[in-house]
Amino acid sequence: MRRITENLSGRKFGRLTALRKTEPTPYGGVVWLCCCACGGLRKVSAKNLVAGLVRTCGGHRHGKSKSPEYRTWARIKNRCYNPKSASYAYYGKLGITMCWGWRESFQNFLNDLHERPAGMNIDRIDPYSHYSCGHCKECDAYGWPANCKWATRQEQIANRSKHSLKGMLLERIASDFLAAK
Ligand SMILES: [Zn+2]
Ligand SMILES: [Zn+2]
Repeated sequence: MRRITENLSGRKFGRLTALRKTEPTPYGGVVWLCCCACGGLRKVSAKNLVAGLVRTCGGHRHGKSKSPEYRTWARIKNRCYNPKSASYAYYGKLGITMCWGWRESFQNFLNDLHERPAGMNIDRIDPYSHYSCGHCKECDAYGWPANCKWATRQEQIANRSKHSLKGMLLERIASDFLAAK
């Protein structure tokens, strides 16, 4: 059996786009993580991809089961850009945006953050800043860092209280300063 070792990254096979290589099969065959046009993810052997045997995220599931990563991406866009979203007041309205690179492409988002580990959710490292990748043209223009990672609920809570503590401290210093004048 001929092994397919070429770089398939970014190549389209039907509705699937190859993203990156993952763990090989028990027999050493090459496996690619692919993103479907519907937002589903699927690991497919390079052999099946190139032979055209697998062309969507998977039969009857296609279009129905969006990946958790896709749902996260869609939720962020919604809270930043849809004034009808219940969370818009805490995001879009406060000027929080998703940077151009991620806004334009779910694949960019997935390539940067990889798959969501079980039990984790998206967290902004600086909760007062944007959902930014740190390397697209908008991030470059504004100097936005890579500001997101997958985090556990406890990590998210700890991160937020750390930042609000910092905020309180800054306010205290400012009011002391004003009082001393
Ligand atoms: Zn699909
Ligand atoms: Zn960016």
